Amino acid sequence: MHAETTLAGPIQTQAAVYAAAWVRQLRRGRPVPKLLPEVTGALASLARELDLLADQIGRREREFERLFDLVHSVDQGVGLDDVLNRIFDWFVDIIPYHRIGCAFVSTDGAHLTAHWARSVLGEVQISAGYSQPLAGSSLGAVLARGEPRIINDLEQYLADHPDSDSTRRIVREGGRSSFTCPLIVGERPIGVLFFTSREKETYREVHQAIFRQIAAQVSIVIEKSRLYQDIVDHNRRLQEERGRLAEKAIRDPLTGALNRGAIMDRLADALRTAAGRGDMVGIVMADIDRFKSINDQCGHAAGDAALIEFTRRTAAALRDDDLIGRYGGEEFLLVLPGIGAEAVRAVAERLRRTVAATPFDLGGVMRTVTASFGVVAARADDGPAAALVAAADRALYVAKNSGRDKVVAG
Ligand code: GH3
Ligand code: MG
Ligand code: MG
Repeated sequence: MHAETTLAGPIQTQAAVYAAAWVRQLRRGRPVPKLLPEVTGALASLARELDLLADQIGRREREFERLFDLVHSVDQGVGLDDVLNRIFDWFVDIIPYHRIGCAFVSTDGAHLTAHWARSVLGEVQISAGYSQPLAGSSLGAVLARGEPRIINDLEQYLADHPDSDSTRRIVREGGRSSFTCPLIVGERPIGVLFFTSREKETYREVHQAIFRQIAAQVSIVIEKSRLYQDIVDHNRRLQEERGRLAEKAIRDPLTGALNRGAIMDRLADALRTAAGRGDMVGIVMADIDRFKSINDQCGHAAGDAALIEFTRRTAAALRDDDLIGRYGGEEFLLVLPGIGAEAVRAVAERLRRTVAATPFDLGGVMRTVTASFGVVAARADDGPAAALVAAADRALYVAKNSGRDKVVAG
């Protein structure tokens, strides 16, 4: 209406044509063309207004895109720290900052504890775990009101509140203005995003308005990613625990060798694999000689020490693919994939010497220990695992009866 009073006739028509063309440009996401210097008055101010409108639309569009990406990232199952890093990388053209910190309200609502911070200021002075009581604090008030708070001169604020440890730390980091944004899900305050700038007077009403618009989504994204993170962490712990239990279930607790069930399973596996490759599997039954006398003369603990040392020496002398299992009291079953009769005999001979070569330290008592070995090398179709073990056991029996400290092939 104002234009009509200052423009008349053809000029008015011309202005309308310009205006329509500019709005069309804007609609297509293009900037308003620069005006010739001679264009003044209402037309020039219309162009300025359109420029401002274009800026605002552009900013809204960026905000919308950022927010969309952020919300989308949660659907993809992104963890909390990734979400916070994205906020740090993406929000800088929406809200100015040199540092962002994120802290969470404790379950009982009594404390606010820092979880994460990223900064291009100095060395971070408030890091994960830094905790402040909320009762009676200004942060408590920010959370209760649910309104972002601006402090545009942190040094002055610190002078007025010399007891504020967190302000002191942020000033030490190099922060000069702060913008504190409560995170609220439904009605419940869950935490705070702290934006900090290295310049004074950074934050304006417009930033509060922007945060108010995105606060609900940002809060939900952070809360969801935190829950997701909890589930991921929990699952990882469960997985590790399950792994430890599964490992424990197949091991002999004294020596750490596989237990009887596990070594028999592995033997069956090794036979299957060997069948596919046309290979043989070496099977060794080893039994410590006169073990009863170690127990009787040196005590049960010394007997245990002998079992542990026998396992250690044997395992150290075997290849990585070889397996050692405790078959019975002082009887061990070794599975050596991929080797034939001569090789399995040679390995057992090496083990025999390794055991007998130097005395065992049985808890202060040094005692020479020997063992006897029964060996077979088998193909998968030579019989089921149990029959092959029985054959090795028969060879062991021969070794025992022919003087012990011997290797006998079955
Ligand atoms: P041989 O030379 O003929 O093999 O005689 P040995 O004394 O080694 O064999 P025997 O089978 O007579 O005795 C085995 C002993 O091993 C009996 C048993 O009490 C003991 N034993 C079995 N398991 C354990 C264990 O976990 N710790 C200890 N200290 N002794 C065990
Ligand atoms: Mg024995
Ligand atoms: Mg025995």
